[in-house]
Amino acid sequence: MVNMKKNYIKIILKNIPVGILIPVLFTVGFFIFTVFSFLLPYMENALMDKKREMIHELISTASSTVSDFYATEASGELTRDEAQSLAMDHIRTLRYGTQNENYFWVHDMEPFMLVHPIPELEWINASEITEPIEGGRPVFVEMTEMIKEYGEGYLDYIWSAPDDPDYIAPMISYARIFEPWGWVIGTGIFFDDVYLEISSMRKKLTVTITVILMMILALLSYNVWTGIQTEIQRTIAEKFLKISEAKNRTLLENVPVGIYRNDVDPLSKFFMINPALVRMLGIKSEQEALKAKISEFFVRKSDAEKFAKEIKSKGRVNQIEVELKKRGGENNIWGLLSCKRVKEDTGHVYFDGMIENITERKKAAIILKESYEKLKKLDKEKDEFIAIASHEMRTPMGIINGYISLLLGKMGQGISVPQQSIMQKIQKNVKRLISLVNGMLDIQKIEAGGTKEELQSFALSPIIESVVKDFQISCEPKKLSLSFNMPSEFIPTVLADEEKLRQVLINLVGNAVKFTPQEGTIEVLISPYKKDPQFVRVSVKDSGTGIPEEELKPIFEKFHQAQDHLEHTEEGTGLGLSICKKIVEDTFGGQIWAESYNRQGSEFIFTLKKSEESSK
Ligand code: ADP
Repeated sequence: MVNMKKNYIKIILKNIPVGILIPVLFTVGFFIFTVFSFLLPYMENALMDKKREMIHELISTASSTVSDFYATEASGELTRDEAQSLAMDHIRTLRYGTQNENYFWVHDMEPFMLVHPIPELEWINASEITEPIEGGRPVFVEMTEMIKEYGEGYLDYIWSAPDDPDYIAPMISYARIFEPWGWVIGTGIFFDDVYLEISSMRKKLTVTITVILMMILALLSYNVWTGIQTEIQRTIAEKFLKISEAKNRTLLENVPVGIYRNDVDPLSKFFMINPALVRMLGIKSEQEALKAKISEFFVRKSDAEKFAKEIKSKGRVNQIEVELKKRGGENNIWGLLSCKRVKEDTGHVYFDGMIENITERKKAAIILKESYEKLKKLDKEKDEFIAIASHEMRTPMGIINGYISLLLGKMGQGISVPQQSIMQKIQKNVKRLISLVNGMLDIQKIEAGGTKEELQSFALSPIIESVVKDFQISCEPKKLSLSFNMPSEFIPTVLADEEKLRQVLINLVGNAVKFTPQEGTIEVLISPYKKDPQFVRVSVKDSGTGIPEEELKPIFEKFHQAQDHLEHTEEGTGLGLSICKKIVEDTFGGQIWAESYNRQGSEFIFTLKKSEESSK
């Protein structure tokens, strides 16, 4: 609680705009000082001076009037008494002021009052007259002493107004000696109006200054208030920032991927680096890492240059594989490096990067590649062996088949019926072996070098027609209907190899004949291939046993035969369709696949590239 209070005071003090406050307060203070110490006293003096001047002037006038009367005495026109009496009468009538409230008096050096508008004060000893307050000064005694010494002078004292004896106020008087008659002529005015004026001015100024001070205070309070608000918001924002920074820091510190930032240049010193990257690069500590440049960790200088060039041109680099040196002589590592250039609103540029350690993955890939190479070599050796073995087997097989044919023919007349049946079985298997060997050799031949360069352009339908014609005899035992159809005016020419295409057709039509039961139908159809107009679609569709869904793809693999066709397996080799696939796809650049319709027949479809002469 105490701490909070302290903080609050701190915030308030922090927000007082000292730079504005001090000059303002100084100016106001100086103003107050000047007004009260100089201006008001000066004005007071000036007003008093004015009053003094005025009564001085009035006495001069009165004196000159008395002089005029004296002149009549001097000229012998009047006696002194006459002249003095006239002069006194005249002075008695002299009045001034807004209500003629001010007057003159005359006394001699006794002092004896000769003229005074208050009848009680005339013709009396003036030394008895004192200020109308307790312990009041003998005004006329003081005046007479002053005149004795200086001949004239001003005197301040308390006096009452002649028409209102209750009105007692300070008064200033001026008196001067009229030498020829020894008269002291004087007059006085109240000067409390000067005080009143000055005090009203003082009041007004006090009010004005108070208002100014209040306004300054209000302004200051507003300033402090808004400052406090901003400060509070800033403190809250700072707090949140600290929390989120701490979260980000934890993330950066715990993430297993290397993360860094560098300034100015993508290859310059690390500006920030996370512990994962420090460990990855074998650096002892984060402090040491901050002295290192990322460029020194690239094994190949060319990699570093390429990386920097790409970032400079594209602003980012995505997952490039780089070999990195580890400090302390450990084995190099492989990193997957990504980096992005970031430009702040201020124009400041920096680079944020991420390095994933892919050494293990890379090692595995290398091992995999090596194994693949080995396998490829072994496969090649195996193919070569099969080719040689097949080739070497074909001649003796042919010879065996020839001899069996002889034995089953005229030469075998003495052989018993059971022996003939055995011989027939042998021949059947030998023939199967021969076709197997031939199939193997075909595949080997295609794999070894069936290139598309050997393709020629020729009309498709005559070949199909001839194959269909050749198969008509094979269809007779099962009374199968074999037909060939194509849309009218569709006379495609294709880019292929006639002999190989015939081999494909023989395989497919042969299979259809094999797998279609009595009185079934087989249809060979050519049509435009809608998905890709550059190709022609050829299909062999039968009403046979069909192929299970899961077998549609595997039947194109070598030696694969559909599981539920085992009754036919003795007749086939399981190589036919794989030879077709190799010819159509690898040699002709088309596609081959099979479709089956609820086990009610199947359709083998392949596409052939049209040659330029082909009509649409
Ligand atoms: P095979 O010499 O055994 O016929 P193929 O590669 O030509 O070898 O055919 C592989 C397998 O595909 C066959 O054993 C058979 O199970 C299936 N098959 C091929 N054509 C058809 C078809 N028209 N109808 C049903 N099954 C077929």
